[in-house]
This record gives sequence, C-alpha cells and structure tokens, in this order.
Amino acid sequence: GDTINQIAAGEVVERPASIVKELIENAIDAKATTITVEISSNRKEVTRIRIIDDGCGIPTEEVSLAFSPHATSKIQTAEDLNTCRTLGFRGEALASIAAIAYVTMVTRSKGEDAGTHLIISGGEILENRATGAPTGTTLTVEEIFFTTPARRKFLKSLATELSRISSVIEVFSLLYPELTFRYLLNGQEKSTSHGTRTLGEVLRALRPDEAAQMIQVSGEENGISLEGYISHPELIRQNTQRILVAVNGRMIVSSRISGAIRSGYGTLIPSHSFPVAVLKINLDPARVDANIHPTKREIRISDEPEFLRFIVTRVKEALQGQDL
Ligand code: ADP
Ligand code: MG
Repeated sequence: GDTINQIAAGEVVERPASIVKELIENAIDAKATTITVEISSNRKEVTRIRIIDDGCGIPTEEVSLAFSPHATSKIQTAEDLNTCRTLGFRGEALASIAAIAYVTMVTRSKGEDAGTHLIISGGEILENRATGAPTGTTLTVEEIFFTTPARRKFLKSLATELSRISSVIEVFSLLYPELTFRYLLNGQEKSTSHGTRTLGEVLRALRPDEAAQMIQVSGEENGISLEGYISHPELIRQNTQRILVAVNGRMIVSSRISGAIRSGYGTLIPSHSFPVAVLKINLDPARVDANIHPTKREIRISDEPEFLRFIVTRVKEALQGQDL
C-alpha cells in the first residue's frame, strides 16, 4: 500500500517542478484553455503549489478513483481515451502526489450541477464532499514530501527549485502557444502567455531579449517535421539546460537530440558549449516509445540515426542561411 505508493512517488515526483509538470499535463489533457499556476514559498522552500484549470473537470463518482494508482484504466471509457487525453497514460501522478503531500482538489465536471471538494493526504482521503465550483479543476498541494523527509533533504535551494518551476511553465507556454498560462509567485504575477498563436510570438513575449538572437528552423522529411528556433552562435550555454525539445507535443529530455543540435553548429561555437533552442518535432507516434521512463521524458525513437541526421542537417541549413 503506502510504501509502494511512496516509492512510485519518488519516480514521478522528484521535486516541486515535477509536480507542476504533471498537474499542467493533466489540465491540458482536460482540454483547459487557461491554466494558472500559483506558487507560494517561505524563505526556504516551496510551501504550496496550486494549479487552476478551466478544463472538463472530474465527475463526482470518479474523483476519489483519480487518486488511486493506475486510475486511468478504471475511469476512462474507450471514447474518452481518444478525446480527453494525450499526455498522461499511466494514471500515477495524482496517486503519487497524494502519497507525499497534503492535496486538496476542487473540481466540477461540465455535465454536473455540484462539484467535489476532496482532501487527501499521505494517500488517505480525509474529506470528500459536494461543493459549488466553476467547471474545471483546482488542485492544491501542500506539505510537499512530508511523508518522505529524505527526499525533501535532496531538494536544491529555493531559487533553484523556483527556476525549475518557471522553466516548466515556460516550456508548456512554448509547446502550447494556443493556451493561456499564468504564473503567480506569492501572489505576484510573474508571467502570462495570453493564448498567443505562434511559437515565435510566445518566444518574443517570454524572452524578448533572447528572441532577437534566435534563428527559425523548420523542415520536413520522411514523415518527420520540425519547427522551432535555435540561437545565434553568440548566444550559448555551458550545458543543455536551455535546449527545449518536444516530440509529438510532449516535452522530453534526450542527450542524443541535444547532441544532434549541437553538431549542427560544428565549429561555429566552442566545444563543450551548447546553443539555446526550442524545437517541436512531430513524427509517427508508432516510432516513439515514450514509456521507458516513469517521468515520460526520456524517449526512444526507432531509426534514430536517420532522425538525428535530419536534425543536424536542418540546424546546419538554418545557420547557413544566416550568413554568419
Ligand atoms: P494520468 O494523467 O496518467 O491518467 P493522473 O494520476 O495524472 O494519471 O490522473 C488521473 C486521472 O485523473 C486522469 O486520467 C484524469 O481522468 C483525472 N484528472 C486528473 N487531473 C485532472 C484535471 N485537471 N482535470 C480533469 N481530470 C483530471
Ligand atoms: Mg497525468
């Protein structure tokens, strides 16, 4: 029971930013158009994460199931599987988060008059009652890692954890330019992307200084399409942290893809340095195996060498077009 959930929680929920990521994914799955992330902190750590969405909400009788491990298969009809979800599929995130924190969910499904107010902590439901609520879901996570003090000790400084959270929000804003993301820290608005249309527009809104140094890259070949921005060789970093890659709408981490982007620069940038990049790649989902890592970020692609060559080529071409 609890122990297993807490171990599983460690895989999905490493840090506050991973909670934010999972909850934003759920909001996107629920077809939200506006997603608000409210973070509170004291001087040392993140004390509260709240995600408010205007998505489809959860029907009353399904709310507690949503928090049981692998809930997805229990509560989704075949039809829902095709319509209301894409990013999640293992039904683990909510169970994992509820195992290590104090979680309050207020949700109302589109079709219902009354909503549900549910409190679950350390995996146990403490309260489950009807409430009035707007359509959509508000999830509040407090006392993060209170059941796993060891994990709590491994957290980095508040500044680092907060910067990871803002980069998660930034990544989603870039990947889903048609959605509105609001980010508030201790009640203060830090950023908003107003459902701006294109990746370029979001980039200019979120990173105005950097946007001027970004070069558009795009291409299509053998069923792989790529669009995004890579930095002018003057804008470089010592690591791959500013390389954002999404494959089929899912943000991923791949040292091989980062390596391919880097290769495209050749000697234009010093060795051991990396460009800044935002790339959206789409290819046949059958070629992507996203299920090999619990956090779904590390993926495997069939015919990967061909895929990586395509990226190198497109990056090279984009840079050549710049007359550097
Ligand atoms: P998964 O997303 O992999 O299915 P989660 O534990 O993240 O697993 O979520 C469990 C289920 O709870 C989801 O499948 C969905 O039905 C429901 N759910 C979670 N968050 C939301 C939300 N914000 N709006 C609507 N439904 C949600
Ligand atoms: Mg999920």
